Amino acid sequence: MNDTRIAIVTGAARGIGAGVAERLAADGYAVAVLDLDEAACKKVVARIEAAGGRALAVGADVSDEAAVAAAVDRVAAELGAPSVLVNNAGIIRDNMLFKMSVDDWDSVLAVHLRGAFLMTRAAQAHMTKAGWGRIINLSSTSALGNRGQVNYSAAKAGMQGFTKTLALELGKFGVTANAIAPGFIETEMTQATAERIGVPFEQFKEGIAKETPVGRIGMPADIAHAVSFFASEGAGYVSGQVLYVAGGPKA
Ligand code: NAP
Repeated sequence: MNDTRIAIVTGAARGIGAGVAERLAADGYAVAVLDLDEAACKKVVARIEAAGGRALAVGADVSDEAAVAAAVDRVAAELGAPSVLVNNAGIIRDNMLFKMSVDDWDSVLAVHLRGAFLMTRAAQAHMTKAGWGRIINLSSTSALGNRGQVNYSAAKAGMQGFTKTLALELGKFGVTANAIAPGFIETEMTQATAERIGVPFEQFKEGIAKETPVGRIGMPADIAHAVSFFASEGAGYVSGQVLYVAGGPKA
């Protein structure tokens, strides 16, 4: 039984991560809101506290080994040993392959894959010790291939293999690992995509909604709901899975 109920959500200063942090706080978790900019995390912490929850703002770059170790130590000292980790921090550096720089390739893989690896390696020590844990990784429908995203789609497909191996290695310690692969979710990330291709955001969203079986775009709360399920006590027999949350079938 999980009685510590401490969660870490990376990339939680805005977008999907902020929605997930607020949902886990409403579910009863004390939440470490981790992002590059600690001041930006404090706004999410204030919203959680105003709703009666408990949270801590943690500034850290998930791709920096020393910063990750210090951040997880700080969470354990100030909130308690983490039993849930949501690897959500992410960036896009889109371009067609022939125009993509090595820097755009390296930085995307560093945040998504190296970041998830470093965070998970640090957090699992607490979970395996407690004999209970939940790791939830953000993949994407782009894992199936997406023009202009050779770096991002490789990283998001990598998240799926990473998740399945975590499930194999950590299951005997009471730790599950699952991935969520969102379709189009309204955040600053998708707003940046619309800007890059030169389409007004409202028009971009309408076009996506028309192509989506449920007839709408996704919101951070849609992803937060799936995270809440994977983090729950009752989901202990679900591990190594990839859940597409995309308003219709994928894969
Ligand atoms: P977002 O609005 O851009 O938020 C991402 C957050 O991650 C930002 O606050 C960003 O901080 C933070 N971050 C970036 N690099 C970081 C690092 N090295 N260390 C710590 N934090 C870092 O993105 P989102 O749309 O909410 O996406 C969240 C996750 O869902 C990402 O993994 C994304 O790939 C995935 N996803 C999103 C969609 C979608 O449609 N939105 C679809 C599929 C998957 P800064 O603001 O300081 O850069």
